[in-house]
Amino acid sequence: MADEARPHMLSPSAWNRYETCPRMYWLSRQGLPRKAGMAASVGTAVHASVEDLLNLDITAKPDSESGWMVEEAEGVLKRRWEEEKASFMATPRRPKWKEEKWKDALQHQRGGIIMLLDHVGIRGLDHQRITAALWRKIQSTAIAVEGELKTSDGRLMGRLDLLMADLDADGKPSGWLVADLKTGRIPEGELKVDVNRQLRMYRDILLANNPDAPPVRTEGWYTHDASKWAAVGESVLEDAYAAWQATVPTPMPMEPTVGDASCGGFCDWKAWCPHWWNWRHENGTLHKSDFSDAVVLLHHFDPSSGAAVLELCEPINAEGRAVPTGVQQSAKFSDRGKEALQETLAAGHQGALFLGSVMTAQRVWRVGHWCDVLPWAPMPDGVEHHR
Ligand code: SF4
Repeated sequence: MADEARPHMLSPSAWNRYETCPRMYWLSRQGLPRKAGMAASVGTAVHASVEDLLNLDITAKPDSESGWMVEEAEGVLKRRWEEEKASFMATPRRPKWKEEKWKDALQHQRGGIIMLLDHVGIRGLDHQRITAALWRKIQSTAIAVEGELKTSDGRLMGRLDLLMADLDADGKPSGWLVADLKTGRIPEGELKVDVNRQLRMYRDILLANNPDAPPVRTEGWYTHDASKWAAVGESVLEDAYAAWQATVPTPMPMEPTVGDASCGGFCDWKAWCPHWWNWRHENGTLHKSDFSDAVVLLHHFDPSSGAAVLELCEPINAEGRAVPTGVQQSAKFSDRGKEALQETLAAGHQGALFLGSVMTAQRVWRVGHWCDVLPWAPMPDGVEHHR
């Protein structure tokens, strides 16, 4: 209901999802249970903490005061970390929270601070030696921190991390820099196509809304090694509007793009999609890799040990109706995998189960904290779905 009342708006991440597989995009809008992820939570906490540091009120500190940044940075990160942890734990579809990732979060945050120092020409400075005067200078170059960008017609949008003033050799503002903090993998040679498109979309919305803007450039700031990657190229607005048109919500499921790059990658919606299953069944790759997705029946489950007997299923038709094969498979459910199974059973589910990323390399399959355990509920092609 809410979706129908709200005008359709396209973000770069929805656009990327659509480009990867229209069905994935369509499924992501059906109100299905969202999956929390550790990498995403670390990223959100780091982003928020860097933004907090840029908004930090240090007016009371004298210019020369140093020795406060490391403690302050850790304090803001800790607060954001705890917030993220609470929202992660409140998400039913989630893996295990990994406390040990705290060290990575600190390293990413340090990378963010290094890049902010670099922005005003300071390199190799021990963060304990950052003075209040230096941090105020960095803060003064931040024109906007964490804001929503939207075209005037409300069709294209994005969340801007940092809009910084670019400084010339004399320290005078010479243009704008759209910087997007990235806690993911460092690019190999050049930015990935989807990241490049995302950054240019931010740049182009900004330019469309500010016809008198100074020169605008855009960079991905990779916190892992504090490297900055420019996104250059023509305006993406024409393509973005075409994508907006193509992504107008429909009750009918959109076309799937089946294949290694889509189904073989990270698709969170496999429990509702029959296509990956038919594709693997037909090309003989079902259950063949060390980590495999499967549709199974549960014949026996011991809640205390997690030991289970499964029966493997195969698709009987294009809609993904499951037929038992008679092949029995021992499995061991542990950690979040076991909890998720128990939650699914407690909710009254009785039919086939979807198991995502099961470790199938050994005689006994392992369904652990990294796995999805969900009712198998494929949404067939050609049948309208109204939320
Ligand atoms: S499983 Fe494959 S075809 Fe289905 S939505 Fe995901 S990426 Fe698309």
